[in-house]
Amino acid sequence: MKLKFWILTVLLSSLSWASLQELNAQTSPFKLAPLPYPANSLEKAIDAETMTIHHDKHHQAYVDNANKALDGKKVSMIELLKTASKQAPMIRNNIGGHWNHTFFWSVLSGKDEDNKIPEGLKKEIEAKWGAMDKFQAEFEKAGASQFGSGWAWLIRTSGGLEITATPNQDNPLMDVGEKRGWPILGADVWEHAYYLKYQNKRADYLKNFWKVVNWKKVDQYNQEAAKTKLP
Ligand code: MN
Repeated sequence: MKLKFWILTVLLSSLSWASLQELNAQTSPFKLAPLPYPANSLEKAIDAETMTIHHDKHHQAYVDNANKALDGKKVSMIELLKTASKQAPMIRNNIGGHWNHTFFWSVLSGKDEDNKIPEGLKKEIEAKWGAMDKFQAEFEKAGASQFGSGWAWLIRTSGGLEITATPNQDNPLMDVGEKRGWPILGADVWEHAYYLKYQNKRADYLKNFWKVVNWKKVDQYNQEAAKTKLP
């Protein structure tokens, strides 16, 4: 009984992380953590079936394929992201998939108190884009105009907050693409993220996405990113 408890504690602590740096430090072989909330808790914007398939099938496959491609090699997530341009496509795509989805689950919440943006972050966004709805429109545009599969991101660069998009499972921590920075919010715009409920209407999914953003978490990431050098 005691041993079982110990194993559970070790297993949970190896999956738990709270900061961007802790997420980056996760080392292979990678494990899939459970969703941080019930699959039906984001129904305001994303249905339970989509969440379940997305996490249990898609995310699990990225984890399994990353481990398979690494073939027992011990390496941290950030080492692979930083050198993505030199990695085999199997590694680049699946490590990206694992990082992006782990991050994505964490910036969503169905709780009203999490969906309210903290004043400091709101002011920072308004200073950059003029108004919250202008920022949101810009972010939605980045997601909607990403051709094919990919992600829309709010990132912190040395120059402040910026919006960017990446194809496939690339992300702004990788040494590829135009803009590098700390992701503080991301929207998955692969069809598997919205097709069951929204079919081909990606723009509608992105409009509803705001209802389930965990702004508390985004604010926490933003504060960490502001004082942490980009790896
Ligand atoms: Mn996805």
